[in-house]
Amino acid sequence: MKVLVVEDEPRLAEALVQLLRDGGWEADTAADGPAGLALARAGGYGAAVLDVMLPGLDGFGVCRALREEGNPLPILMLTARSGVPDKVEGLDCGADDYMTKPFAPEELLARLRALTRRQGQGEPPAPQGLAFADLRLDPSARSLHREGKSVQLSPKEFELLRLLMGRAGAVCPKGEILDRLWGGAEDNNLEAYISFLRKKFFYLGSRASIATLRKVGYRLDDPDRPA
Ligand code: CA
Repeated sequence: MKVLVVEDEPRLAEALVQLLRDGGWEADTAADGPAGLALARAGGYGAAVLDVMLPGLDGFGVCRALREEGNPLPILMLTARSGVPDKVEGLDCGADDYMTKPFAPEELLARLRALTRRQGQGEPPAPQGLAFADLRLDPSARSLHREGKSVQLSPKEFELLRLLMGRAGAVCPKGEILDRLWGGAEDNNLEAYISFLRKKFFYLGSRASIATLRKVGYRLDDPDRPA
């Protein structure tokens, strides 16, 4: 499988290519946003590692352009910036995962494996119309519905909510979520995704909520059906 690396620092790009080779992947590189976008559009990649600060068009712009065209390429955003607004923008523009530099090489490989696994075969099809409380999840459109209202979910938000809904109100352990969504890598983005989902519940006016059980996991709550 081939990975697209879009990174304008030559030494880092080279290190990424070497790392990917060690991990058993082939890699192509692009040194600016427009070149990266052109290669991604041409296709043939199992995933992309996308830097945020790029000449021509930044990583957010590349990602957004691909998603607007309906391109499902799994994207791991990589950046030196670690501010929460950047993280939120990265995820909102359709990236599947986000890592800040400096990163641990093994973690990057683990996350790429998780991304490409989800994209590929192996993943069992989601049961149609998963529902909880007044919410209904549409796996084909990756959207969340309540009465006449609906909202689009990012790939990660969808996987996370599907896991939680699959528990039908029981606790979903944090370790299992990290295993399933991030290939076992410890990840502090999980709390951010939970908060994105909470905002979407709020937007839909749902009565459902997500409870955080410190050091244990997360649970969907329905006030009309106390646990
Ligand atoms: Ca850069």
